[in-house]
Amino acid sequence: MTTQTAASKAPVEDFDAVIVGAGMVGTALAGLLAKAGMRVALVEAKASPLQLSAFGGHAPAPRVSALTPVSQRLLTHLGAWPAMEATRVTPYRYMQVWDADGSGSIDFSSDEAGAPVLGHIVENDVTLAALNEQVLHLPGVSPLFGSRIQALQTTDTGRWLVLEDGRQLHTPLLVAADGARSALRELAGIEVAEEAMEQDALVTTVLCEKTHGATARQAFIAGSPLAFLPLTVKGDDRYCSIVWSTTPDHATSLASLSREALGDALGSAFSHRLGEVTVVDSAHRFPLVQRHAAHYVQPNLALVGDAAHSIHPLAGQGVNLGFMDAAVLAEEVITAWQRGAPWGALTTLTRYERRRRFDNSAMLGLMKGFKVLFGSHVPVLTLARNIGMSGMNQLVPLKRVIMRQATGERGRLPLSCR
Ligand SMILES: Cc1cc2nc3c(=O)[nH]c(=O)nc-3n(C[C@H](O)[C@H](O)[C@H](O)COP(=O)(O)OP(=O)(O)OC[C@H]3O[C@@H](n4cnc5c(N)ncnc54)[C@H](O)[C@@H]3O)c2cc1C
Repeated sequence: MTTQTAASKAPVEDFDAVIVGAGMVGTALAGLLAKAGMRVALVEAKASPLQLSAFGGHAPAPRVSALTPVSQRLLTHLGAWPAMEATRVTPYRYMQVWDADGSGSIDFSSDEAGAPVLGHIVENDVTLAALNEQVLHLPGVSPLFGSRIQALQTTDTGRWLVLEDGRQLHTPLLVAADGARSALRELAGIEVAEEAMEQDALVTTVLCEKTHGATARQAFIAGSPLAFLPLTVKGDDRYCSIVWSTTPDHATSLASLSREALGDALGSAFSHRLGEVTVVDSAHRFPLVQRHAAHYVQPNLALVGDAAHSIHPLAGQGVNLGFMDAAVLAEEVITAWQRGAPWGALTTLTRYERRRRFDNSAMLGLMKGFKVLFGSHVPVLTLARNIGMSGMNQLVPLKRVIMRQATGERGRLPLSCR
């Protein structure tokens, strides 16, 4: 249905939901709502969607995520997982974490967790391109690529959005999925608590001398977590994606090294656990800032994914939390919509915020705690963390609890993730 406003002769297009940001989280949400029969506009600043055929070759895309089995179930529900699996996903069955400043270490295995895998390392572009294949062609989805938001207004019946190209959209449910620096969150006047982590993440891809053995490894080196995440490229399981979260000065000096010198630095920082290291990609840097929005919802508006919270990559939880936001918001909205209740009303949206805020806050708090504990050179804290890690390694029930957290199996899961 289209109407015209007094202010402009341009037609106003009506949608059941408008999502701003077609990243992994916004696209997953669009798929969930459209599969239930809702009419959804998906507004994205980038000119065109990624195509899956561009991925799966010899050079992995630089950004990867450790996806939990719960996220895998959501992606399966959306029909994206088989294409991701056919392109490139690397399962990991073991995790090893150790403290380079002491002797503490802890390891986890999928057998102990009673699960086939602990998770999969997947290039973000593979996940997004597979979601695009499944979602953008659904009958209820109108993808509006190459569009930026210009103005936001509140009406009696919802939100009215003006795009830079003059298009006007009206909806009872506007969703900000436009990432950590969400313009829509700012337009809506939602405040955000920011904490600079005083670290940059240095990301690259390496080829190691030894095979990764389906193991995700992380060392804490003077408060700087260095992760070697397993990647299997064309059957070769000696590749790893590196995430080294370190001081901005250290990240600058690492990024200025030649590939050969960076490989040497990575190999020795990792005590050559995987032998010699060859860097096969450029080094990319991401300043790390934890953010948490003061509110996730207003009447007719909700925040999801990094627009609501961004978290230190150390626990590999960012997009997994975002997928849970999308699944829970979709569940609450679809239930209201099917009952004929106002799906954008604050009563509906508050149920979403209540179900998600605690989980997201707990994870953000945990990352702050890690920073204090592992960033410390105070001897008593070093001792405590070494005793803690080694002690914990002996406690099978406690390790099971940690593994359930890490694999996303916590709280009341939405139906799409069970
Ligand atoms: C180094 C590093 C490692 C990480 N590792 C992991 C990991 O192992 N596991 C994990 O779960 N998470 C990880 N994360 C976090 C994860 O990458 C993010 O949580 C995730 O990408 C957020 O997805 P999103 O869809 O919410 O936002 P984004 O991916 O930021 O997508 C936002 C989309 O909105 C669009 N957009 C922005 N502004 C506008 C606008 N004004 N109008 C229209 N469109 C707009 C953008 O173009 C983009 O497509 C890591 C992050 C970093 C930095």
